[in-house]
Amino acid sequence: MKHKEGKRRKFEKHNTPKERDYGKSTKECRRCGRTGRGVISKYGLDYCRQCFREIAEDLGFEQLS
Ligand SMILES: [Zn+2]
Repeated sequence: MKHKEGKRRKFEKHNTPKERDYGKSTKECRRCGRTGRGVISKYGLDYCRQCFREIAEDLGFEQLS
């Protein structure tokens, strides 16, 4: 079934992340583009925790346990 134009616009309106100056969507993983929770902007990393796990060793981080 074909989507109605209005329905599609409504969907996009409610599912596109807002442009913000602050808040969760301003944080974005520079490796995979993931936003929101789990993105580490501390120390200027800007990686999500998943990517951070993969690249941490290359960056010189050592696993403590
Ligand atoms: Zn990532």
